Amino acid sequence: MGKQVEILPVIKADAYGHGALPIARELIRAGARRAAVATLEEGVELREAGVQIPIVLLGGLLPRQAPQALTYRLTPFIYDLRTAEALSQAWDREQKEPESHRIGARGRISVHLKVDTGMGRLGIPYTHVLEFLEALSAYPGIEVEGLATHLATADEPDPAFAKTQINRFRKVCDQIERTGYRIPFYHVASSAGIFSSQEAHFNMVRPGIALYGIPPSLNLTSVPPLKPVMRIKTEILFLKSVAPGTSIGYGRSFMTARESLIATLPVGYYDGYSWSLSNRGRVLVRGEKCPVVGRVCMDLCMVDVSQVPEACVGDEVVLLGNQGTQQITAIDLAAWMGTIPYEVVCSVGRRVPRIYLSNGDVICVRGQDQVYRWRDT
Ligand SMILES: *Cc1c(COP(=O)(O)O)cnc(C)c1O
Repeated sequence: MGKQVEILPVIKADAYGHGALPIARELIRAGARRAAVATLEEGVELREAGVQIPIVLLGGLLPRQAPQALTYRLTPFIYDLRTAEALSQAWDREQKEPESHRIGARGRISVHLKVDTGMGRLGIPYTHVLEFLEALSAYPGIEVEGLATHLATADEPDPAFAKTQINRFRKVCDQIERTGYRIPFYHVASSAGIFSSQEAHFNMVRPGIALYGIPPSLNLTSVPPLKPVMRIKTEILFLKSVAPGTSIGYGRSFMTARESLIATLPVGYYDGYSWSLSNRGRVLVRGEKCPVVGRVCMDLCMVDVSQVPEACVGDEVVLLGNQGTQQITAIDLAAWMGTIPYEVVCSVGRRVPRIYLSNGDVICVRGQDQVYRWRDT
């Protein structure tokens, strides 16, 4: 991005299913000075785990959540004066508390103003930002650190509407500058904006999906090759040879046409292996793509491994990632599921243990018990 552009890495939704805390630690090790999540609860969880860098809340903040946002020193996006008022009141109360010399307690609360330039989701209408800023001066304790907007079509081949949004945003920035008001960060671009146009960079960007090695869209020709971070694997739990005309799973939606070798995997839709992959998904066994047969169950699914007669119980099965010369990408899974790659990684279930590797070494494991074990380095 160059030195002029600050990076605000997005680790909402448990870092797109990858695990927010280990990813936050890795980002900090790599030099990240701040990070963003969606909700107050996500921010609190990171703070309680000891993450100290500024954490921006990209989602909405209700007035009743203002005291907690202040207590945990979170940096909310705001677009509603009622939330600003609640933040200011919480700040004022904190000033009056005798024990308010806790770390940072005397500082003002940083916020980023969210501007709606055409996304139609959250934000101050772009025509009313100056008014909002003026009204905000009635609420002491609030410091505007950023001004942000979000593009609705940055991932589409036609750049016209994204340009319109960027122009609206730039006009707002100019108006603000002319009044002499100083806001440190102006930001617009998520991953798609980063790759689609330099115009969208301003002095801060908010990459999410690209951090995890997944292209934000197949429409953008300017995305460099990215390396996926996540690989999902399981193993064959049970294997059986069945006669032609044998039905597999709920509803008997699959019937073998020939003698078949059917493997059962300990993975189901609770793990994020969607029901929509029933009779559609493919997995890798001994370097071969094998089809999911029958309906995906909550905890199990079946695959036809007849093309791999040497398959054994305990064989590695790759659901996402490489094996041998073959690979299954988040884009493939999304196509089979009728969704987008974002949802594929976000849906990986809580009970799926996450194992973190660095240069092939396990650096951390997060399992069902939510215990983190870190190598002492
Ligand atoms: C999720 C989100 C991002 C990151 O988007 P990606 O497409 O994953 O890069 C950036 N900004 C906002 C406001 C978001 O909600």
